[in-house]
Amino acid sequence: MVNSRTKTVKGGCLCAAIRFTITLPEGWQPECNGTCQCTQCRKFTGALVPQNIGIPKEYVEPSFDSQPSYKTYQSGPKSYRGFCSTCGSSLTFMDTKGQLWIHLGSFDEEDLVGRKVGEAYETKWGKIWEWDASGSFGQELAKAKDHVWVENAVPGVTDVMAGKKYMCGREGVEGFEGGLMELWKEVKQ
Ligand SMILES: [Zn+2]
Ligand SMILES: [Zn+2]
Repeated sequence: MVNSRTKTVKGGCLCAAIRFTITLPEGWQPECNGTCQCTQCRKFTGALVPQNIGIPKEYVEPSFDSQPSYKTYQSGPKSYRGFCSTCGSSLTFMDTKGQLWIHLGSFDEEDLVGRKVGEAYETKWGKIWEWDASGSFGQELAKAKDHVWVENAVPGVTDVMAGKKYMCGREGVEGFEGGLMELWKEVKQ
């Protein structure tokens, strides 16, 4: 469920040369929201488990293409990856059909996590803040629906998240629950 208290999510690159606002229709749910452990996504983002969310282009203002710092790199015959040419932040994945995915880590902290409020508590674990998560989308957006390219997972570490998993892409095969080790046991029976 997308939080009905707010209908926009903001994000941008590290240097803020690229900023965007996504306006989500009431009740909208992402068709695609998942992690990808393919080597391209890893290399492009520098993250072991990048998470991408499919967003209709028309929800994004201003469009990525209209922003001067935004550049794309053709990473495959049918795929492009968008980044900020000033600070190097990796932002998007696109296919030639025009489908846009945005790397979830480029969304603003306030929209993902919430806002720090009040006084911090000094504890033996360091400062602990209270969070006002009203209006944030963290719960709705951070929960990946599924995970692709799990054949590249680090067994026991990056194959243990909740949600359906796929060896490579989602098409034409069944997803599985649990980790690679359990799957091996089943295959070898
Ligand atoms: Zn930038
Ligand atoms: Zn990928």
